[in-house]
Amino acid sequence: MTGRIIDGVALAAKIREDVASRTSALIAAGTKPGLAVVLVGSDPASQVYVKNKVAACQKAGLHSVLEQYPPSMTQAELLDRVRALNADPAIHGILVQLPLPAHIDSHLVIETIAPEKDVDGFHVSNAGLLMTGKPLFRPCTPYGVMKMLASEGVQLRGAVAVVIGASNIVGKPMTMLLQSAGATVTICNSKTRDLGWHTRHADIVVVATGKPRMVDGSMIKPGAVVIDVGINRGADGKLCGDVDFDSVIQVASAVTPVPGGVGPMTIAMLLVNTLEAAERAQHKRAQ
Ligand code: NAD
Repeated sequence: MTGRIIDGVALAAKIREDVASRTSALIAAGTKPGLAVVLVGSDPASQVYVKNKVAACQKAGLHSVLEQYPPSMTQAELLDRVRALNADPAIHGILVQLPLPAHIDSHLVIETIAPEKDVDGFHVSNAGLLMTGKPLFRPCTPYGVMKMLASEGVQLRGAVAVVIGASNIVGKPMTMLLQSAGATVTICNSKTRDLGWHTRHADIVVVATGKPRMVDGSMIKPGAVVIDVGINRGADGKLCGDVDFDSVIQVASAVTPVPGGVGPMTIAMLLVNTLEAAERAQHKRAQ
């Protein structure tokens, strides 16, 4: 058996087209959606990510601002910038690119973003809303994964899902979204004993560990759907995921590739979240 490749590039393009047409309608109604992306420091991967995010905004007709600061920026200076963006009516979404330099408390920075502009969905009040089943923003990466599963027609109600990785930005919100959709979810971490025992029982496996090719075909139930969130750069300079694609595709019914899988979806969902924040702001103004 050879599984299907889930094409994140094509699905993300469709979502971005929809964002572009909703953006035109919103502009006609008097609001241009605006995203501010803040980068502190010179991490090369972060620089690529922020440029891609800003370019995607511009392509879809959104207003976007990229604020880049040197690694010497103080925490107080960054908090002041976030407060200024909170107060800026042209900005509906604020994204502070992580990781931040070690002298800055990321948690404090995220908590300073106004929850209604927290398009990453990382603020504790947004995490709480997600946990209680009433999300304002769904974190972009797990939200993108949910869209991929929906586009593939994957039945979630009653499905057994295993999420490998328990971070606040991917694994935990992924778990909440899957279980809200009716899946029975196990969340695994680096202390999990016999990971393969868990994954071999799963209809859906989502891997977000940052460990190159750690899940191989022997760990997958025949016919399962496998989503690879990982982005790793090998010694050869090439990108690879957390899934050993070549062996998993022999067993699974569908697999996401890296690159071209979850990555483009994360950016598309950032646009969706920014647009929806602007739509809510417009609605509030009109009341
Ligand atoms: P993280 O380092 O914050 O968390 C990793 C998690 O994996 C932890 O919970 C850890 O316990 C678990 N883990 C590590 N080794 C394990 C093992 N051997 N077995 C089981 N669990 C293990 O990472 P993160 O921020 O969640 O990111 C994970 C990966 O996803 C990274 O490669 C990152 O680059 C990628 N990522 C991709 C996107 C995207 O848009 N595609 C977005 C965010 C993160």
